[in-house]
Amino acid sequence: MPIRAVIIGTGSAISESNYGSSAAVITTNGLVLVDCPDSILRAMKDASKKSGVELDPMKITDILITHLHGDHVNGLETLGWKRWIARQSGNGIQPRIHAIESVASRIWERLAPAMDQNGTAQLCDYFSLNILVPGVAVSIAELQVEARSSEHLIPCCGFRISFDGATLGWSGDTRFDPSHIDWLSSSDVIVHETSESRVHTPIACLNALAPELRRKMRLIHMEDNFDQAVTDIVPLTEGEVLEVVGLDR
Ligand SMILES: [Zn+2]
Repeated sequence: MPIRAVIIGTGSAISESNYGSSAAVITTNGLVLVDCPDSILRAMKDASKKSGVELDPMKITDILITHLHGDHVNGLETLGWKRWIARQSGNGIQPRIHAIESVASRIWERLAPAMDQNGTAQLCDYFSLNILVPGVAVSIAELQVEARSSEHLIPCCGFRISFDGATLGWSGDTRFDPSHIDWLSSSDVIVHETSESRVHTPIACLNALAPELRRKMRLIHMEDNFDQAVTDIVPLTEGEVLEVVGLDR
């Protein structure tokens, strides 16, 4: 079976047109989110409508977090509250967040002013937290997930998400970093960010990669004025169902 991921958002940090870069990987028992951007509930509803795949926020079991910029995590508060409120009536399970230590250690610092219920609540009232150790693959739902730190303005990581012989590579936000792309290159599909900034990856850098890498690469985190004509790498679209099949299948 291929990995199936519904693309929820493809926009840059300051996009006026698109949701923040994110996806929902469909698993047997629910959904594994890759990042959780602003307006996550509406973003998931819109992606459901476009894809024809029902993305129920109550079915999220796990959330992989690349880093703490708002376009990747601003939805955690809304989702955390929604699921907490549901559990007060006995509905749903507590979602798990997975992040590298340098990201995980500051998640509550970011959420507490809105969620600590006058000092009586902690992160563990909303989410359980699993620390990802770079280079160590772990089972998340039926997926195998490995993280690698990337170079960004703040601590950040990319992921290799594997299932049944197929691997989806996800760059996270990163400056152009050939060693990060090298790590992602064993994936069957590489979702790579692009934006014209020194803390992101300008499209010209990706255009200079080998053709076999460009062919299996898909773009995310595009600025609103991104011109598709400047590259042969295909951008992802919101609501697209990305299917990743292993090469040996
Ligand atoms: Zn960022």
